[in-house]
Amino acid sequence: MFDVNRIRNDFPMIRNNPDLIYFDSGATSFKPQCVIDEVRHYYEHENSNIHRGDYDISFRVSRAYDDTRKTVARFINAQRSDSIVFTYGSTSSLNTVAINFGKKFLKHDDVILTSKVEHASDILPWFKAAEESGAQIRYVPFKKNAIFDLEAYEQCFSDGKVKVVALPHVSNVMGYIYPIKEICRIAHKHGALVSVDGAQSVPHIKVDVQDLDVDFLSFSSHKMLGPAGIGVLYGKFELLDQMDPVFYGGGSNARFYDDRRLILKETPEKFEAGTPDIEGVLGFRKAIEYLESIGMEEIEEYGRQLSDYFISRLEEMDHVEVYNKGSQAGIVTFNMKGIFAQDAASYFNSQGIAVRTGNHCAKLLDKIIEVSETIRASMYLYNTKEEIDRFVDVIRGTTLEKCVDSIL
Ligand code: PMP
Repeated sequence: MFDVNRIRNDFPMIRNNPDLIYFDSGATSFKPQCVIDEVRHYYEHENSNIHRGDYDISFRVSRAYDDTRKTVARFINAQRSDSIVFTYGSTSSLNTVAINFGKKFLKHDDVILTSKVEHASDILPWFKAAEESGAQIRYVPFKKNAIFDLEAYEQCFSDGKVKVVALPHVSNVMGYIYPIKEICRIAHKHGALVSVDGAQSVPHIKVDVQDLDVDFLSFSSHKMLGPAGIGVLYGKFELLDQMDPVFYGGGSNARFYDDRRLILKETPEKFEAGTPDIEGVLGFRKAIEYLESIGMEEIEEYGRQLSDYFISRLEEMDHVEVYNKGSQAGIVTFNMKGIFAQDAASYFNSQGIAVRTGNHCAKLLDKIIEVSETIRASMYLYNTKEEIDRFVDVIRGTTLEKCVDSIL
């Protein structure tokens, strides 16, 4: 049974900040005690490098690091653990795909199919890949309010030029779950590969890479209860195996010679040059185990309940405009009429409420939703309806004067 009070007890940030309402988990999540303990344990008892030391603590840490690949593979139902590459986060995973894909597979006049919903980290690497290969960027037309339009999407393939599709699984502004399974099916039918930005889906919903049939999936540990500085690039093994690393150095090569010949290690080690974020990987494993102990279906259901409830409460107020009434993943995006988003957030901050405002790194989304600055409340498994009620009371009492006073 999903017990939010028990869950809240596991988070020192909640215990230590009883007056804070944290509605910015889309930016980064809190960490449960077990993750903090694991990172601390590494530093206090097993501090050593992996795959390099000929001594017990290094063996133990290396094993735990390698085992985490299996944990991640199980979590997203990857067929094999060598399909899991550790990166520094979603941004580095997404860059790895775009840079490599661009170099290996894109030619002049090919099309990269993406959208205006994209986070900067999922579109800028493709801009670069387009610049270097001479490929074109094409945008999937979305319906009003950034609803996905499968028909319009399929039409984008009509000239046979699309080689790769780059889309998010869940929009970091709208909280909609996009139909990735259908998106992949259609792309594959037309001979294109699909890279999915899972930064906002993997933390919140059950993701099964085999069922979705994604070619690449990128996500970050810090948004799913784990440490920052560690992320995952999942790729179908045969695709990863054809790709080159972005970084070269220690740990990723088997041999090299003075005539510049280089023999890389196998996939996925060939992608992980340099000392990785070891404590991050160890902590990430605990985070995944923690999420699994609660159940991703339960977490998804709870996230949906929170956003449904929050939206229904916001709809009581005439001076609030909600932009994502169908939100499915704990994200609620809105504005208060006549009040600039950042000014409102400043007042909310004075009342102990942490939200994010602005364009949320999705700087083309205003072309679809026709507003560039919004207030985003992003919730996670430790948030409660009582917190929403407290926030709604604050919103109800918000005036332009109070906002201005909170800034001065
Ligand atoms: N994509 C989306 C949809 C995101 O929300 C974020 C984080 N805001 C990223 C990519 C980038 O993630 P990171 O900063 O962890 O690399």
